[in-house]
Amino acid sequence: MSELTLYKGEVFDFIDSPLNRKDAYRYFPDGALVVQDGKIIDCGPFKEVKGRYTDYEQVDYSGKLLMPGFIDSHIHYPQAEIIGMYGKQLLDWLDDYTFPAEQGFALSEHADRMARSFIEELFRNGTTACMAYATVHPASVTALFSVASEYNMCMLTGKVLMDRNAPAGLTDTAEQGESESRSLIETWHGKGRNRYVITPRFAISCSTEQLIAAGRLHEQYPGTYIQTHLSENKDEINSTLSLYPDCQDYLEVYERAGLVTDRSVFGHCIHLSDSECRRLAEAGSVIAHCPTSNLFLGSGLFDMLQANRVGMQTVLATDVGAGTSFSLLRTMGEAYKVQQLNGYPMSVFESLYKCTLGAAKALHLDDEIGCFGKGRKADFIVIDYAVTPSQQVRMDYLKHHEKWTLENKLFGLQTIGDDRNILATYIVGRRMK
Ligand SMILES: [Zn+2]
Repeated sequence: MSELTLYKGEVFDFIDSPLNRKDAYRYFPDGALVVQDGKIIDCGPFKEVKGRYTDYEQVDYSGKLLMPGFIDSHIHYPQAEIIGMYGKQLLDWLDDYTFPAEQGFALSEHADRMARSFIEELFRNGTTACMAYATVHPASVTALFSVASEYNMCMLTGKVLMDRNAPAGLTDTAEQGESESRSLIETWHGKGRNRYVITPRFAISCSTEQLIAAGRLHEQYPGTYIQTHLSENKDEINSTLSLYPDCQDYLEVYERAGLVTDRSVFGHCIHLSDSECRRLAEAGSVIAHCPTSNLFLGSGLFDMLQANRVGMQTVLATDVGAGTSFSLLRTMGEAYKVQQLNGYPMSVFESLYKCTLGAAKALHLDDEIGCFGKGRKADFIVIDYAVTPSQQVRMDYLKHHEKWTLENKLFGLQTIGDDRNILATYIVGRRMK
């Protein structure tokens, strides 16, 4: 009989989207989570759960929040070094900071070192799974999958495809990109917890042939994912349409190549037409809203209400390094502010869903992560509500006025919380922070 561990604390997870129903979550203020062999086997009220087991180790997190780890659905691991660089707008930022930094990943020692520090930073921030861009260099993908495998972490990544409009050291060709991607898929996709993501950077840096090759790869390996950028910035849209004059709009560029699927994640999608929104919703594609990045690069305000109305699947993501924080708590806080400017005071439950169970569902991973259902991997975090004097004062005030409710707790974490609130991060039941 393998060992059982019972974690005692406040236990929270989603069972459905809070947009569908009010009781979309479970919350056990005096709860327990039981883990065996790296998997969740039980959760519920402490007294009830405890009665079902005799031999276990108990870990006491009373007063702390246990919830599924965050899922970051759009992040660039080679950009960790250039976070917080004076940016201007997207296309300048790519030329001035991103491309020079990504060239460093031609050296596999550098890629290995950055992959490790990237994953450690995710854990520090309570992120237990991510969909990341690597660079054009296959070694950058090997490095990230290798380090993720050491931790048995759920990792989705892929080699960036870029055959034009980038410096010489960062370009491939359509054929080379396809064959390198194929070989990485054969090596890594489905190996352990790794999944391959076909990654054309965006239409400006990919020829028609390269986009078609990317679509062909996905057709050959339908279990893979696709990630790219869409309608982030107005200059980007104009450049794209001048490179693809036959296309009516930006989305059509990807549609023609077979890249708009229910396994495609499009970063940003700020300046979409109604028709593009409808087509993305029909395809079941995923839109990664990256508020800290959008504000930082002045890209625009994503309209979550419109996205919800047309039934687009949206998730929240950091987009580091244009995103300014690895923390999904910080990202939720900025998403709230962006939606405030759109006149939509988004609930904390919607934000939190979109970086936990909502993201897991969008990525077809909800049988593995995103909630505490039986058999899910024990990828969870422990949150301390009050780690700064200001957070303590706020908590004392709310307790004194009998308003220390779940919603007020979560909204405080979203608004003034960050990596300091992440007390512990577990991957398959092993503590990483
Ligand atoms: Zn991005």
